[in-house]
Order: sequence, then structure tokens, then C-alpha cells
Amino acid sequence: PKYVYDFTEGNKDLKDLLGGKGANLAEMTNLGLPVPPGFTITAEACRRYLEDGGVPEGLSDEVETHLVALEKGMGKRLGAADDPLLVSVRSGAKYSMPGMMETVLNIGLNDESVQGLAKQAGEERFAWDSYRRLIQMFGKTVLGIDGELFEGAIDDAKRHKGVDSDLDLDAADFQRLVETYKGIVREQTGSDFPSDPREQMRLAVEAVFESWNAPRAIIYRRQERIPTDLGTAVNIVAMVFGNLGMESGTGVAFTRDPGSGQQGVYGDYLQNAQGEDVVAGIRNTVPLQELEQIDPASYRQLLDIMKTLENHYRDLCDIEFTIERGKLWMLQTRVGKRTAAAAFRIAVQLVDQGLIDLDEAVSRVTGDQLAQLMFPRFDLSADRRRIAKGMNASPGAAVGKAVFSSEYAKEMAGRGEDVILVRRETTPDDLVGMIAAQGVLTSRGGKTSHAAVVARGMGKTCVCGAEELEVDAQERCFTAPDGVVVNEGDVISIDGTTGEVYLGEVPVMASPVVEYFEGTGDRGDELVEAVHRIMNHADERRRMEVRANADNPDDAARARRFGARGIGLCRTEHMFLGDRRRLVEDLILASSKDERRAALDALEPLQKSDFAGILAAMDGLPVTIRLIDPPLHEFLPDLTALSVKIALAGDTASSRDRGLLEAVKRLHEQNPMLGLRGVRLGLVIPGLFAMQVRAIAEAVAERRAAGGDPRAEIMIPLVSAVQELEGVRDEAERILAEVGVEALIGTMIEVPRAALTAGQIAEAADFFSFGTNDLTQMTWGFSRDDVEAAFFSRYLDLGIFGVSPFETLDRSGVGRLMTIAVEEGRATRPGIKLGICGEHGGDPESVHFCHEIGLDYVSCSPFRVPVARLEAGRAAL
Ligand code: ADP
Ligand code: MG
Ligand code: MG
Repeated sequence: PKYVYDFTEGNKDLKDLLGGKGANLAEMTNLGLPVPPGFTITAEACRRYLEDGGVPEGLSDEVETHLVALEKGMGKRLGAADDPLLVSVRSGAKYSMPGMMETVLNIGLNDESVQGLAKQAGEERFAWDSYRRLIQMFGKTVLGIDGELFEGAIDDAKRHKGVDSDLDLDAADFQRLVETYKGIVREQTGSDFPSDPREQMRLAVEAVFESWNAPRAIIYRRQERIPTDLGTAVNIVAMVFGNLGMESGTGVAFTRDPGSGQQGVYGDYLQNAQGEDVVAGIRNTVPLQELEQIDPASYRQLLDIMKTLENHYRDLCDIEFTIERGKLWMLQTRVGKRTAAAAFRIAVQLVDQGLIDLDEAVSRVTGDQLAQLMFPRFDLSADRRRIAKGMNASPGAAVGKAVFSSEYAKEMAGRGEDVILVRRETTPDDLVGMIAAQGVLTSRGGKTSHAAVVARGMGKTCVCGAEELEVDAQERCFTAPDGVVVNEGDVISIDGTTGEVYLGEVPVMASPVVEYFEGTGDRGDELVEAVHRIMNHADERRRMEVRANADNPDDAARARRFGARGIGLCRTEHMFLGDRRRLVEDLILASSKDERRAALDALEPLQKSDFAGILAAMDGLPVTIRLIDPPLHEFLPDLTALSVKIALAGDTASSRDRGLLEAVKRLHEQNPMLGLRGVRLGLVIPGLFAMQVRAIAEAVAERRAAGGDPRAEIMIPLVSAVQELEGVRDEAERILAEVGVEALIGTMIEVPRAALTAGQIAEAADFFSFGTNDLTQMTWGFSRDDVEAAFFSRYLDLGIFGVSPFETLDRSGVGRLMTIAVEEGRATRPGIKLGICGEHGGDPESVHFCHEIGLDYVSCSPFRVPVARLEAGRAAL
């Protein structure tokens, strides 16, 4: 295969092969934008390298050919003593993984070529600065030396000289630093820093390949659900220099505000600096607007290019650029990450600008983003003490105890504590802490800093660059103006939407998007308007209906306001708890037919009023009521507690308690999940299901008499054989006829055998509803309540699954059973209604799967209803 592509050969659609960075560098090259020349080694070469543990055959020759062509084009040779060509070796996978993988700049420098570089540029300081950067990056990335050692040496040099800024170090200082760095390399690796330019390049390429499997990259991929086997492409790019004096510099920019979606000039610029300096926060950057004064010509050209890119990509782009003595170079672009709010706003703005249509707009936002917009925010009418303001890097309202290290953040979160990770700035090693924390607060770095970019990607609240704060990670505290000191464990609140930092806990309130769904919101808000237009279009597009899982009138009413078209799962078991527990105990303790009858008669009116309320809230829409599912012992007291109570009471123990204890022992099951529950209860306890069906029938009759339009559907849980269903169905039909009402009678499909015999079961079922929580447990054979803590993280590490199958439907196993049931159920009964009521009904990817296999509806918790509507619309595009 061809492993190497020149920038002139690629394009933006080749991300699988060239990675995002390489594909977009090629695209910009072909758009005629000023990109330094270079070439890309494919991700396939990386995969081969990682699989075979060595450079694939033919790669070295191909790289050499392209390097020679690059040298010809530039009229310089890599690392030549008199006038060296320098290159960067840059990682770049299909999906952006900010800061996770490696890049080495200034490849080609050594003791000779540094002189040539100085002479050609007429700048000694620049040449030595570039050389020490090479040893530093190469040492850290390729040779695996602790970066702190190099940082420490710079700090020493500054201290020695009594200066704060790297700008105050001169050529001689950097030259000395190069010697120190070489010493560090020798000491740490036992060998000299490799001076041969081609050798440097080869080693750097291999290091980039290997960085694909660095621990932090693995964690990041898991978090972002990026497949583990893609590998990274490697870009070799001719160096351009932002560190060539004050007429040079480097910056990052967005074509729109990634926080709000507003059009304008957003970015950071740093004079006399190279590459990572901007994001690493070594000095404070200036806002991009100031480039207009510093270098008006480059500024205008940059704005032009940004416009070209937006029109070309028809989306928000982010870019990296460098100015070398007044000449602008583009070093990277991509369709930029953005906050959820910006995603909705930008999609609609682009529709209004005529760049995309509404279908495209719907495809560009996700259910996860919508879910984020439904998060609560701070109640600004509450009393609160603001102690600082930083940048609003990633929206949301987070409250938690301040912690100053990622390890501790993880530990505290493991104990169930809410924490805010506070750092001067974050590095890729802070990923674990960021995942564990409710929010992230940094005192340095702009909207493009590591903390900001990563937090936005994760949808985590982040305030960055709160410069008034003195963060002391050693002492585990920070100091705010007015002498406020926050120690580890003190509660703070951070507002990622405004950038404010508060002492103590600030109360939170509903989001405007939720208020809009509730019908109480203000449509004048631009974000709300954008959500409104996108949701309307998604509703027009979707084929599936969305219902809600709700078992009380309030939830039913809210679900309806959120757009649910019925209830897909109304559980009845909670209706046996609380005060009514005693009645259930009576039922279980009943020793005669009459006692049982009496217990059921006492429960029936209560059930009836439960159902009447829900049917009223969902008037005119289907309400699927599931008959009682869990094993009866769940309604009885705990064995140990009861035994102790009786032992303590001795002779005075009540006969009721003694009876209960006996019942608890009698009903005890080793494996309750696979025991006497669902339809089995209905068949074994005479009158139980009949009571529930009668309560439903009478609620329907009552609603109808009151002029309502009740549409009850009776659902039988845990059926595995049609015979089970037939028995229950006959009885239910008889009761419905007695009361003189109608209702559909159907079943859950949640036992593998039910899915496999769905053709038979459909004879007795008007509808199927996939109970994918149980179906997943039973298909995999593991108990949801136990295994997640026990071994799921190990399974995720081992890649046995990428996501918990309880979170996202396991297409190939559980999904296969569903597909069989859909086909065979429809074959028997063409009009059969098919839906899902497991937790997966609100999970975006699972919603897409349900669409694909042809379900009629998904049902999820009321709060997820808008998410499911949106995803059902996206699935239908
Ligand atoms: P990342 O993916 O972490 O952003 P990059 O490969 O983009 O890493 O490179 C890191 C930094 O070095 C970026 O700021 C980039 O613009 C800069 N850089 C990369 N290649 C060159 C080059 N050839 N000339 C000048 N700067 C470069
Ligand atoms: Mg970059
Ligand atoms: Mg179930």
C-alpha cells in the first residue's frame, strides 16, 4: 500500500487514512492557503507498526523519497550545516485528541546546523532557543525523560539571571541551556542526544506511532468513545518560526466563539513564541484583536482566510497559525469543538446564512448536547459571595469541594463526594481528575488552553484563566483577592457560563431550555429559539414516536409537556409501597381464600385511583401499564432486621411478626432475578393480576364516563412462553368484557426465550415492548446490580466492550434477539405495535438502533424525552 501522501495529494475526506490534521492540511494546501509544505504518513502505517512491532516494509523508502522531494522544493537539506531545513513531526488521528499525543518541533538541529540556522536568520538567540526546544521535546516525547527536569533547568536559568520571562533569556543563556539539556539526556538515557537529522526524524515518527497507546490517550479514547484500533497518522511539516523576534509569533483562533456561537474574532496570540507556548500558558497571550495593531497586514489576511475556511467547511473552524517575520502561515484547521449551546446556535445561524439546510442543522447537533442544555444553572437571586472571575470555558453550574490534584479528585469522587479540580493549568495527565470532578477551575490559560478544550469536549463545567487566584498545589489551597483562602475540602461553586467563582454552595435552578419545554420559557432567547427550530424539524422528520416511562400523574404530565406521545412503561410496584405495604403483607400472609380476597379488595380501589390519575394526564394517548413484576419478598421486611426484632422481643413478639418471618424464609430465593416474579407471580398467586386488570378496567370506565379518552394497554412482564401469556390474557379479557371496556394486551420481551419464540408469542400479544434492562442481563448472564462495580471497568480496559451494554444497546447480541423478535412478531401479526421501554430508550445510539430495526416507538424517562425526539429525528435523516 501507499503509506505516504504529499499535502498536494490529500483532501479533507481522507481522515481515515491521513488523520484529521493531515487531511485538513492537504485541504488547505489545495485551497491555495499558505501552508508550509510537507507530507503525511498514513494511520495504516501506524497500525502495521503497532501490530508488527516494527516499521512496515517499504515505509522508510517512501518517507525518504518524500523527504528528498521536500528538500528539493525548499532548496535546503534536512539539518544541513550551512542552511538547514527543519521539520516538525506531528501526530494526528482521525478524531482530534487534544494534547493526548505527541509532536516534536525543530527536527534537524544539532551542534553544526544550529550555527547555520543562526547565520541564515541573522539571529543567534532564535537558533539556540529552537535547539533547546528540540532537545526538550525530543527528550520528553521520544526518549521518555521527565519533562520537569527540563522545565526545572529553565527556571534555574531565569532565577540565576534574576528574570521572570523567557524573553529575558539571551543567546548565551539558551546556548548554556542546550549544554545542560544534553547533560540531562546523557544522564537519563546513558546516551548522547542523537545528532543525525534523519535519525532524529525516524525516532520521532516511531515515538508518534507509539504515543497512540500512551495511557492518557487510552483513557481519553474510552471517555470519548473513540475506537482503540485506528492508529494515528504522522505529519512531517517544514518548520516556520514564530520565535524569530517580535515581528513573529504564533496563535490560535476560532471563526466563531466556541462558547456562545457568536460570530467575531476569537483567539489568542503570542509574540516571539513557538507552537505550544500559546496553549501552555508560559506567558500571557493577547486577544487576537490586538494583532490588528501588531501586524495589520497579517491580521487582515488571517480574517480573510478564516472567512474562506468557514464558507468552505460550512461550519465553525478552529485554526493554528504562525507569523514568521510578517509572513502568515497556516498550521492546522479543523471543524472546531464547541459547547452544546454554540452547536445549536451555530447550526441555526448557518441555516439563516444559507450555508446549510435544516436537515443538516439537525444532523449537526446531538442528543447529548441537548441533554447538557437541560442541566440546571445557578440561581442568581440567591445570596452568594463571588471571589474571582475567569473565562467561561465550558458552561454549566458545578458545586463541590476544592481539590488540588487529579489523584485526590479521583479518590474523593470514588467516595461519592462532589469535587472541583483546581489547578494552575491542566496537562493531559489531569484527565483522570477532570473525569472525576464536577468541574474544573484553572488560574492560567485562555479559552484554547488544555483545560478548556478538554472540558468542552467532555461537557464538563470549566472556568479557566482565573488570574486573580493564587493556586498553590503544594500547600493544597488557593488565595483569592481580599485574602480569602480556600483549602482543600472547602466547598466552591463555579459557573462555566459566566466564568464566576463563588465561595460555598450556590443553589442551582432550571435551564431556559427546560423552561421552554415546560412551556414557561421565553422564546425571545436566541438559544431557545434555535432549540425550538431544530426540535420542530426533528419532529417532522422522525418516524418513531417517543413515549415516557412514568408511574405517577406529575411525571406523566411533565413527559407530555416535553413531547411524549404516551406512556411506554407505567410500573405498578411502587404502588405497593409506603402505607400500602401492610396490605401487601396481608396478601402474602393470607392463609385462606377469604383473607386473600379481603387483602386484594383493599388494594384494588387504591390501584384504580392511581391509574385514573395517569390516564387523565395522558388523555387521548396510549398508557402501557405493566402488571406487577418484582418478587414478593421485596415487599417484606429484611430477614436480619426482622429476626433481631423478634429475638429482642422474646415472648412478647407479635404473631404477625412471626408470620412475616416465616413468609420471608419461605419466599427467600438464591437468585430472585430469575425467581418468582412477573407473569410467574400472576400465575401462582390467584387473583393478583385479576385485581390489577380490574382496577385498570374500572379506571378506564370511570374516565370514559367522565368524558375522557383513556387508552390503556395492559403489559405482562417476564413472559418466556406463549402459554404463560395465554392464561393471563384469557382472564384479562374476561374482566375487561365484564366491565365493558377495551384495552390492548401485550407483553414485554425481556427473556431471551421470548425473543426467540416471538412468532408464537405474537399470537397472544397485541404489542411487544422490549425490556432491554432484563434482556441485557439475561442475554449476557450478568446481574446489573452486581457486575458493574465488580468487573466492568476491567472489561472496559480489556476492550471486551467499549461501553457498558446497560448504557448503550449491545447491537450484536441483545440487538440480534430484538431483530429476530421484530421479524417473527410481525410475520405472525403484521400490525403488532413494537416499542422499547428499557433504559436504552433514552440513549442516543440505542435510539438509532431502534429506528433501524423498525420499532414504532421508544420510551424513556420524562427528562430524556426531548433527547429521544431529537435522536429519532436524526436517525431518520
Ligand atoms: P497538537 O495536535 O497537540 O495541537 P501539533 O502537531 O498541532 O500538536 O503541534 C504542536 C504545536 O506546534 C502547534 O502549536 C503547532 O501549530 C506547532 N507546529 C507544528 N508544526 C509546526 C511547524 N512546521 N512550524 C511551526 N510550528 C509548528
Ligand atoms: Mg495542533
Ligand atoms: Mg424487566
